[in-house]
Amino acid sequence: MQSYSSATLLGVRVDDVSMDQAVAQIAAFVRDGGSHHVVTVNPEFVMSAQRDTEFLHTLQRADLAVPDGVGLNFAARWTGQTLRSRVPGIELCERLASLSATTGIRLYLLGAAPGVAEAAAAVLEQRFPGVTIAGCFAGSPRPDDEPEIHQRLRAARPDVLLVAYGSPAQDLWIACNQPVLNIPVAIGVGGALDYISGRVIRAPQWLRRIGLEWLFRLIRQPWRWKRIWTAVVRFPVAVIREQRTKKQKNKGTK
Ligand code: UDP
Repeated sequence: MQSYSSATLLGVRVDDVSMDQAVAQIAAFVRDGGSHHVVTVNPEFVMSAQRDTEFLHTLQRADLAVPDGVGLNFAARWTGQTLRSRVPGIELCERLASLSATTGIRLYLLGAAPGVAEAAAAVLEQRFPGVTIAGCFAGSPRPDDEPEIHQRLRAARPDVLLVAYGSPAQDLWIACNQPVLNIPVAIGVGGALDYISGRVIRAPQWLRRIGLEWLFRLIRQPWRWKRIWTAVVRFPVAVIREQRTKKQKNKGTK
């Protein structure tokens, strides 16, 4: 494992990796075998880890924690740390499909609503000819579904498992199931399959560049307002508060 510098935001580690570095690291994990957990951290992850210690520990134990969500880059800068890039889950999936087309690594798409993983696989096969999709299955993060999912995964033998059960369910599922599955890499990818399949439209590039993807989501999916509020308001407020407390403590010890 290459060592990266990382930022710590409200106790959650985020690795300072670019998209190229993340893809290279995942390729190295596949070569090494074993089992590795990659998390795509965003501000909502950080906030839910504040009150969910199991999730916090899962994030802390991850082998690679990529920065997904521009709020993390702003927060790192504000607290004097460095997170140079963004590694959005959806783009990571696309890059891994491209890697699969050239190297033959086997991808498995698990999660999302029935039919979505298959639709996402069809899009990836069209965009990245030669990609190996070892299988697709919606399933669910419920423990009763585990035997069937295990059976399907053992038969498909993927190198990289993309799990789309939303947060925190997907990463808790990986932490609990990956040790018995012997899959080199598992990644929680949130809504990535919805976007890749075209079921949900992504914000245009220019809005993403200026950090306003959340506004597009708010307009398109107003029922997500609570989660957007957490990412856009509660997270920065918590980071600013923590930074202020740290500064006051430092003054006190001088
Ligand atoms: N999902 C699922 N089973 C569940 C809960 C969620 O397959 O029990 C899927 C859902 O269909 C969606 C993904 O998990 O494809 C998470 O989407 P969301 O937009 O909430 O993800 P995030 O905002 O965390 O990226």
